[in-house]
Amino acid sequence: MLVQVALPVPLYRVFDYSLPADMLASPERLMPSIGSRVEVSFGRQTLIGIVIAHVSEDESSVPVNKIKPINKCLDADPILDPSMLKLAYWLARYYHYPLGDVLAVILPSLVRQGKPLDLLITHWRILPHITDDDFRANAKKQKQQFDMLKLHGERGASEDVLLLEGMQRAFLKTLEDKGLIERYIQTKQSPSPVKLAKMPLDLNDEQKFAVDAIVAAHKSEIYTGFLLNGITGSGKTEVYLQAMQAVLEAGKQVLILVPEIGLTPQTRARFASRFAAHIVLLHSGLTDTHRLQGWQDCRTGHAQIIIGTRSAVLYPFAALGLIVVDEAHDGSYKQQDTLRYHAADVALYRGLQHNIPVILGTATPSLEHLKLVEDGKLIEYQLLTRPGNAKPATMQLIDARLQSTHQQTQDNGDRYDTGLTDSMIGAIKQTLDAGDQVLVFLNRRGYAPVLLCEACGWQADCPRCDAHLTVHYNSLAQRSGYSGSSYLKCHHCDWQAYIPTVCPDCGSQNLDAKGMGTTRLSENLHAIFANPQTSKVIYPIIQIDRDTTRRKDSWENIYQQINQGDPAILVGTQMVAKGHHFPNVTLVCLPNADRGFLSADFRSPEHTAQLMIQVAGRAGRGDKAGRVLIQTLQPDNELLLKLVKDGYLSFARELLQERKMMGLPPHSYAALIRCEGKTLAATTQALKDAIAHLPSAHHLAVLGPIDAPMSKKNSRYHAQLLLLAKDRAHLHHVLNQWWQPVLALPSAKYLKLTLDIDPIGW
Ligand code: ADP
Ligand code: ZN
Ligand code: ZN
Repeated sequence: MLVQVALPVPLYRVFDYSLPADMLASPERLMPSIGSRVEVSFGRQTLIGIVIAHVSEDESSVPVNKIKPINKCLDADPILDPSMLKLAYWLARYYHYPLGDVLAVILPSLVRQGKPLDLLITHWRILPHITDDDFRANAKKQKQQFDMLKLHGERGASEDVLLLEGMQRAFLKTLEDKGLIERYIQTKQSPSPVKLAKMPLDLNDEQKFAVDAIVAAHKSEIYTGFLLNGITGSGKTEVYLQAMQAVLEAGKQVLILVPEIGLTPQTRARFASRFAAHIVLLHSGLTDTHRLQGWQDCRTGHAQIIIGTRSAVLYPFAALGLIVVDEAHDGSYKQQDTLRYHAADVALYRGLQHNIPVILGTATPSLEHLKLVEDGKLIEYQLLTRPGNAKPATMQLIDARLQSTHQQTQDNGDRYDTGLTDSMIGAIKQTLDAGDQVLVFLNRRGYAPVLLCEACGWQADCPRCDAHLTVHYNSLAQRSGYSGSSYLKCHHCDWQAYIPTVCPDCGSQNLDAKGMGTTRLSENLHAIFANPQTSKVIYPIIQIDRDTTRRKDSWENIYQQINQGDPAILVGTQMVAKGHHFPNVTLVCLPNADRGFLSADFRSPEHTAQLMIQVAGRAGRGDKAGRVLIQTLQPDNELLLKLVKDGYLSFARELLQERKMMGLPPHSYAALIRCEGKTLAATTQALKDAIAHLPSAHHLAVLGPIDAPMSKKNSRYHAQLLLLAKDRAHLHHVLNQWWQPVLALPSAKYLKLTLDIDPIGW
């Protein structure tokens, strides 16, 4: 007998290994079971792979004498059950990605490295009667290691944690031999049944219909995909909570996926305040040990509520009963490298696999999800009202062509443009004076997006990318003599440079920062609202973006300040758009959010509208009505008018109709091939060769090769090719024959070729 092993190598095949003689000679003659890890030699490397099948010698394509034995088997029991292996096969097939690499994406890194899974349960602690006096003066190193363990108190810590902290295994053994410390096995009791910590709210009819349908699907153990399409503040979370209650009471686990940015402690608090349950958080900030712990908790059923970002959808679950994908339209659910999966699609697949309901919740459904509703593949429930007195915000356009933007005078008498119309400024003032908060949304951080020489037209560009360098500048810090906050930076590759004092091309001193980022907007607002005598503002201006929240607690502090509710102007990027609850914001201003309606990417209007509606959803969530002001230079743009007048759903349905007429996704199925290399010519040539390799009569629309939107990035060049098919199965049929030979093309040899199924942008 042989074992077939999937290895983390970029090859579309699996490998046969035999068993070593001593394993065969042992009385039990146990085969490593399917789904367990084995260590094997592969060329000159030693790799860890997963056994995916047992095969007989004559089933193998490799001659018997060429087959090597495995080095060892790492698990007595499989670490991946058949449903996880099936998921891996599905991912490999659907995304055309090597099975071994898929498994490498699925497994936490400590598991991939072959660490024993029970490491976490081996704990060490200091024996109760031992004190510092038990050490001889010259046993310094021992004492130092002892002190590290002492920091963990009387329960000690897991061996894994201790080793990560720098403790050495040999010393643990020595200290044990000397009778100073002991090891013990932390046994996990199975979790106690979930209890309600707080009574559920009385549902309104819309919510009740949705909860009843979800609970019915759960009870009948039939997969059903739901689109919970509810305006912001309509009580989607309450629907999740009450559907979860039925599932948790049946002893099942609930997986809640949230976009990257929303995973703040509030998310956990919301679920923890309703249920007394073991809640596990899974996100990118976890240490490897915590991730492994979470993985084990999910796999053993210890975790009852799992709240996680994208990759949590790939975790193993003992008894999964419901998946919720919150803000299901969010772009962060799509992985943008290696295995380019979409977590909402994987969630639907897993729902089908486990015969459980899956809820996609959002105020701005993606066109893909609306199409699934049209096709009868998702059942839609709409929540169109806000519970209680809260009214949805009203939207209003300000024509920035009719009204020039407000000019402000500098100390030296020069006038400059603040980028805000007088109507917008008036509304902000009015709101603040009424004691409320204002959110001004600008999706661009930094001071200004470009530095320009007024004399010769030179612009500060990134030497490594096709992009302008962003001006980072802070006049307040500058005036107080701190120049560290002034620099040029590329937001794509992080290249940094000093701000030149004269133009490097013509020597002119007439350098000007053009355009507006959040820092400049904050400064302009400061100038507008400051008392001219003291230059102090009455109401704080709080800038919220990746630059101001980089430090660990800064976002938490800002969040608390905002939630105290005092009048303030919040200036934020899309960080503030997602899921946060600011009850005192009653006015949302979008000085130029509509730029995206003009972009070359056909998906841009959809994504721009989603962002605008999400930001608008921050207004008027308390008892107060909200108002949204959109300042635009294109007030006749039909899409914008449709969005403002008829709302997101009509807007989205119209876009969907347009996509249908143009044969674009979701009314067709896309695969995007990207090619990266040292020259644009080489990448384009490889894609041309790839096209030549398409089977005759392939019936696909072939768009490209064209330069990627940012063709030079980090000193590498990118070209791309889009394939569109009317039928999903047909697309995959062609890719099955075509993609692997393309990777082997001579012209692709020194290039990086990647395939993106269902891309969400280019
Ligand atoms: P969404 O997730 O759709 O944005 P939330 O679930 O956050 O909306 O609900 C908005 C507010 O309405 C919350 O304060 C919530 O407690 C409240 N709420 C939700 N459902 C009800 C209900 N049935 N009765 C009263 N208040 C409700
Ligand atoms: Zn110049
Ligand atoms: Zn760059």
